[in-house]
Amino acid sequence: MSPSGTSTQLAEHLQVAKGLPPITKRQWLPGAITEQDIPLPEDLKLLEDLAVAVAIGGDNRDVAITMEKATDGVHHFTLAIKGRLSRDDEDAARRLFEVLRMPREDFPNQIRSVVRSYANPGMETAIRVVAEPLDEFVIKLDYWLENDSIRCGNIKNELPSSDEVLARFPKPEGVPVKEYIASLWNTLRASILDENGSARQLSQINTDNVFFLAAQLSGSRVFRRLFKGNMEKQFVGSVRYKLATLGRYWTCVSGLAHGFRLIDGRFDYSWVREMQPLENALKMTRCPRDIIQSNQQIRMACRRQLPYLIELATKQYKEDVALSIHPEIQLILNAESDTAPYIGSSTGTCFCCKLWIDDYNKRMGAKWEMSRSLEQPDETWGVPGQSSDDVVKIIDHEVTEMMFTAVAHGAGVLEYN
Ligand SMILES: [Zn+2]
Repeated sequence: MSPSGTSTQLAEHLQVAKGLPPITKRQWLPGAITEQDIPLPEDLKLLEDLAVAVAIGGDNRDVAITMEKATDGVHHFTLAIKGRLSRDDEDAARRLFEVLRMPREDFPNQIRSVVRSYANPGMETAIRVVAEPLDEFVIKLDYWLENDSIRCGNIKNELPSSDEVLARFPKPEGVPVKEYIASLWNTLRASILDENGSARQLSQINTDNVFFLAAQLSGSRVFRRLFKGNMEKQFVGSVRYKLATLGRYWTCVSGLAHGFRLIDGRFDYSWVREMQPLENALKMTRCPRDIIQSNQQIRMACRRQLPYLIELATKQYKEDVALSIHPEIQLILNAESDTAPYIGSSTGTCFCCKLWIDDYNKRMGAKWEMSRSLEQPDETWGVPGQSSDDVVKIIDHEVTEMMFTAVAHGAGVLEYN
């Protein structure tokens, strides 16, 4: 098959997979869900905080960052973005770094206010992502807390910053801890969703409280217990991940304040510029119906459910897709010998980037570590010129498998191979 034929097929399969319900089979669960409690290395955490703070300025802005540390303590940060670098993107980074250069007494507040000054579209997106499963989650959580044997201990140990939570949302005398935590969830729901269950406008939301609660609840012990014992791991794990992502707008500020106080102005930064999007948009040649029905085994096994799954996949299917080299890969290909082997990213690595980087690490003896993510399919993934034939084949194969597994899973058929 010609290279562009492969790219088209890849984009088609990624689009179909993206439109279907997520796969809950254990071997398909990403580290973000299964390895929740392994702490990230400090440098990776700082890069992630920085990527989050820069990315929040744009609607769907995906930023990744690497860092070099010279022996004299001077840091150099390299930033990359998915798609075309706009003046807004550059402006957001410039404003943030200006503040980070001068750590003052009220450093966290200064960081928070500069981020807020350019952050609206990104905040809106982040809230919509959490709003989508929130109603269903809170209803289920109330049920699980009542019916499962989830115990809660002293409130001081249940949340990352219990004292501050209690100061903001006082716990009435005599109310059990479990009930109090359930009430915090209901507060979060009421803050984000209106009476009809739709996401509120950003102007109606107290973002300070919402980001704070998101950070606290995603880090709560209840979540950990729930995840260990619950059958709905994919759902629980992905809500926790999405909520933690929203909470990062709160936690990134203290992370940055701490990290940049130590760096104390001794840094510079640059953008990767030479990897603009691959120019022409790719035209899809097949519709979801043809793609899904191209597999005879699937056609036979999932017959009755196919119309519904095809409809789901068709909903967000686009005729044209603009491909680009994703930021994580731009950074790896532009890395210097003294670049630390960490890539912090604002939205996390996608399914194909994860496969490509795993292969790169294996082939080159490299040790790139990335931010954890849900490793979701992203149809904008463009094949980097410097890829081995093998990795292109592996990615093509894995994406096809994942897509048909998602179809089989969506149809309630457990085994597909
Ligand atoms: Zn990617």
